[in-house]
Order: sequence, then C-alpha cells, then structure tokens
Amino acid sequence: MNKKTSEEFKEAAECGQLGHFLGLLSEHLDSFLEFDNDDAMSRFEQWQSALKQSLPDSGIGMDALLGEMGQHLIPNGAAVPKPGFTSFITTGASSAAVLAGLSASVASPQRYGLTAFNYLEELSLEWLAEMFELPEHMKGVYISGGSVANIVSLGAARQAAFESMGMDPANDGVQLPCRIYASADCHRTIHRAAAVLGLGRASVIAIEVDDQGRIKPESLRKLLEDADKTTVPVAIVANAGSTDTGAIDPLLEIGEIARENNIWFHVDGAYGLPGMLDPKCKDLYQGLRYADSVCVDPHKWLGAPVGIGATFVRDRSLLDRAFTQGSAHYLEGAFSDDKAQNSMDSLGIPYDDYGLELSAPCRGVVVWALIREIGKEGLANRVMRHNAMAQHIAQRAKEHANLELALEPTLSICCFRYVDEKVEDLDELNRRIHRRLVHNGINIPSTTVVNNNLVIRPCFVGARTEWHHADDLVDEVLAIGRKVSEKLVRD
Ligand SMILES: *Cc1c(COP(=O)(O)O)cnc(C)c1O
Repeated sequence: MNKKTSEEFKEAAECGQLGHFLGLLSEHLDSFLEFDNDDAMSRFEQWQSALKQSLPDSGIGMDALLGEMGQHLIPNGAAVPKPGFTSFITTGASSAAVLAGLSASVASPQRYGLTAFNYLEELSLEWLAEMFELPEHMKGVYISGGSVANIVSLGAARQAAFESMGMDPANDGVQLPCRIYASADCHRTIHRAAAVLGLGRASVIAIEVDDQGRIKPESLRKLLEDADKTTVPVAIVANAGSTDTGAIDPLLEIGEIARENNIWFHVDGAYGLPGMLDPKCKDLYQGLRYADSVCVDPHKWLGAPVGIGATFVRDRSLLDRAFTQGSAHYLEGAFSDDKAQNSMDSLGIPYDDYGLELSAPCRGVVVWALIREIGKEGLANRVMRHNAMAQHIAQRAKEHANLELALEPTLSICCFRYVDEKVEDLDELNRRIHRRLVHNGINIPSTTVVNNNLVIRPCFVGARTEWHHADDLVDEVLAIGRKVSEKLVRD
C-alpha cells in the first residue's frame, strides 16, 4: 500500500486508549451514582435539544463525545439504580458486575472459543445450579432474561412432549393442539413463549390460585382430569416467586402431580429463585427436585446488568434438538476436530445451539464476578435483608390504623395500601399516593392488584437498597396519604 492510500483509508474510530477515556467517563458515572440529579424529564427540553442532531457527516471526536455523554446523557438516565427504587423487579448492577461485563466486551466479545471467559460461562452456570440446589443432572445456558428463558424452557418441554409420541416439532412443526397449564399469576411471557413456539397463546390454561396467589393443586388435578385427550400436555408452569406478590406455588405438590401425569414441570424463578438462600424460605423450594426446567434472572436479585438470564434443563440435548441451527459452512469448517490446542480450534460448548442466539456476549463472567466478590454468603445476606424489609413493612402496616396489609409477604415484595374510612374510592387514593411517590423520586415502588384492590408494591432487590429504605417508604406513604385523603374528602 502506498503512503497516500494508507492515509486515505485510515480508521477514524479511537480503539487504543481505553484507560484514558475510562478515566474521563468514570467521573461522570460516579457523579450519577450520587443520585442527586433531578429526574430526567425535568430537563427534557434541554437534553432533547442538545441530542436531537441530524445525521452527522463528520464526527466530533472522542473528547467532544465524552463531553456530550457527561453533560447531556448520563445525568439524564433512569431512576432504576436508585437506592429507594423498588418498582417492578429491576435494579442497577453492582460494580463487579459492570466491570466484568466491560472486560468481556473488550477481551472476549463473543462467548465462543476456548478462552478463560468461555470457561467461566459453564463454571458460573454450575455455581448457580449448586447455589440454588438444582437437581444434579441439570445443565444451563445463558440467555438475555426471563422472557427468553421461558421460550427456551418451554421449547425443551415441547420437544420432550412430541418426541415421546415419536414426533419432532422442531423439524416438522407443531401438528397437534397443545396445552400449557400455568398459574393464573404466571408471568405474561409464558403466553408469549407459547405464541412464539407455535403452540398459541390460547394453549395456556390458567390454574386457579388461592387468596395468597398460590396454585391450588386440586384445581390443577381437575383441569388434567377434564382435559381433552386429543391435546398434548406440554408443561405445567409454577412460580418460585410470582411477579405480582412474590408468591411461591406449592412446588412439591405440583411437581408430584407433574410426575404422576408424566408432564414437564417448569419452575419460573426469574425473580424468586435466590429466595432459597434465606433459611426462613428454603423449605418452600423443596419441589425443585421434580423440576424439568428452572429459570433465574441474575439481572434481578443478583445485581447483574440487564441482559443476563439463565435457564436450566434436565437434559441439554433436548435444547440442541429444539434449537439447533443445523450445520453451516460458515461455522463448522472453521474449527478443528482434533485435540484443541488453540482457543480458535473449537467453539467450546455449543451454547449457540441451545438457545436463540449465535452471537452473544459472555454473561458467565459477570455472574462469576458477582459471586466471586461477595460469595454465596454475601448474596444470601442481601436476600435475607430484603425479605426482612418486606416483613418489616408488613408489620408496620398491621400496626397502623391507616395502613392495610394485602398479603403476608413470602419474599421481598410487600403489598399494602393506605386506608381512610372517610375516603370512598381507595383505589383512587392509592393511585394518587403512588403518583406522588414517583414524582418525589426518592422511594419509588410500583403498584399491582391483589384480591381486586390496587396496592402499593415495593419489591426489594437492589444491592444499594438498605434497611432504612423500608421505613422511609412507609413514612412517606403515611405523610402523602394524610394529605391526599384530606384533599379527596374536601373535593
Ligand atoms: C421478570 C420476570 C420474567 C421476565 O424476565 P425478563 O428478564 O424481564 O425478560 C419472567 N418471569 C418472572 C416470574 C419474572 O419475575
């Protein structure tokens, strides 16, 4: 190449001084983590006008880019990582998890190949299985989260159900009507998984739950007895921690019913599986021994950045038959069948055939790092603190005349509401209290409906959430509740 050409074709993107730029970025990130910025929407005009640029012909370079990120982007991020944020089931990542993810994006952009990162993919799955005492033969795969975990788990269930009749649904399609029996309080991604897998949303049959949100085993028995025998029972789905209330289904009984009827038993523990680290709750998880598939989201209670879920199945070869891409010239030929001596001699464990993604980040290293940093003990302490916080709120709700506990908490979710006998529409009252909480931006729970009442629903999962946040939330609900109910009575 002559000089002129090499000048002409010079790469414009900076690729070599990461440390220097990380130093600049980290100041902005640390300052975000002080959480003293107002909500992003309070400066909407300002950041929107700064960011709303037409497609740039030429770039501004790294220094100016970092300047824009520090001034307009990072300070206007989400409330999710705030210590008092208890909405939905989501939180910010711990430092170890962020740094491990960053390391992977630099040093091992793909999970394939015989690298240390690839090694941790499997090791960390084994650690999770051991920590949560899953059945011994279970093997896992990382996916992007609970939504995809449910597709992958039910894909394995579909494969097993049809193979037992001598059919291959992955190859030939789903040729018989199917049924998935799932808790009435199951996550809606179960329905989406059924749709994606060609079973249809209508194939999901709701199993009645009791007033604690737990499957009634006798309802499941009845559904199975009455089932149309021309339908294929693909799976029974139970929650180990429901999204609404944290309820744990009677896993032992449901698992036994699944065994008796020879139906796949899927346990959705996306949120609640780590709850078993709390000795007070552990017995509730005994039925895991019957599970054919179990999922858990490290990006919830374990503090991984969003995008990391794990699915475990009793036999990974089912996943391979359900999800394999088949062989491809662009892949197989590039590896050696001989004893591997180079990281590029093999893909390693073919995770790409066990799920939905070929290209995929190393997620195991993140899980490895967050466990390595504080151990099983540190994670158990977090879970116990959060469960105790939900109990503490329940106690205060029972003691205060203006609070009502909707449901005894099982895990780290506590559903309660503000009551005032002078107010007629308690749903409206609690809806307004909740809006105020959100706008104040300090204690930020979400809401749900329990036994037909709208309730305030803190879910404690964040590593930054400390003991005092339970009392802070209750105190704020009481203060706002007093004002809002006075206003409602006056109007
Ligand atoms: C959060 C959740 C999901 C969905 O997980 P994503 O990671 O948000 O895709 C599925 N099931 C349960 C029980 C959940 O709590």
